[in-house]
Amino acid sequence: MKIGNVKIDGKVQAAIQKEDRVIPLSTIKGFHEKYGNVITDDIIHNPKMFQAISELAKQDLKSDQKYEGQIAFASVVMRPQKIICVGLNYRSHVEETRDKLPESPVLFSKYSNSLAGSGDSIAIPHETKQLDYEGELGIVIGKKGNNIKESDAFDYVFGYFIGNDVSARDLQFRTSQWLLGKTGDGFYPCGPFITTGDEIRDPQKLSIRTKLNNEIRQDSNTSYMIFSCAYLISYISRFMTLYPGDIISTGTPEGVILGMPEDKRVWIKSGDRVTIEIEGLGRLENVFS
Ligand code: MG
Repeated sequence: MKIGNVKIDGKVQAAIQKEDRVIPLSTIKGFHEKYGNVITDDIIHNPKMFQAISELAKQDLKSDQKYEGQIAFASVVMRPQKIICVGLNYRSHVEETRDKLPESPVLFSKYSNSLAGSGDSIAIPHETKQLDYEGELGIVIGKKGNNIKESDAFDYVFGYFIGNDVSARDLQFRTSQWLLGKTGDGFYPCGPFITTGDEIRDPQKLSIRTKLNNEIRQDSNTSYMIFSCAYLISYISRFMTLYPGDIISTGTPEGVILGMPEDKRVWIKSGDRVTIEIEGLGRLENVFS
């Protein structure tokens, strides 16, 4: 099932995607009366509600005509307790940034102010002159856990989505900690939907491609990750309890602007469109302003 959040009349609610149709849950007969206004966070935290929506999704649902063309996406999760990002997790990206291969996962965080939906306009902060994109596979945790065995890791996954780890390089490298350059407002657009774990047989076999305007910049496969999704879930859970709705962004392959020779780098500017596609997860698209 593909499930996400949409904005209708300024209000966020969950929707399912079925055969290219976006169906807000409130337009399904009887749903709103029973559950009220629901966002993905509510569903991720409530397995019974998730089960009920899975059953609904099997029916021949029609989206309500009055919303056609007015649907805007919101972040795939609105209130994650944690957004954990993995740096330098593709060998080719480590090489292009002239960094050392990590012996352990390099972890950093973003905050919820960085969340945005597919289609949202991302404002370029005045404080940076070096804005970059990073196409990434994102994981949404579905079950509380710590000390998770690598072999059990997928039991804790709710689903997968596309994320853009927008990075202000001048701020990222101002000090030894990357935080400042990583968690500006709108610096983690994600979506358009979460694809639930049952639909992704192997998250290490997905093509990932990023375009800046019409030019392909990143063209890789999640098979090239240094630390796999299962390893990352297991590793992180040794140090902190993972909760439903937590996000892990698994790192970016080669092809970012930072990886180009200095005289060839043209940083993201107003009007640029970044489009990221991951096999089976759809297309995340944002224009910068
Ligand atoms: Mg990244």
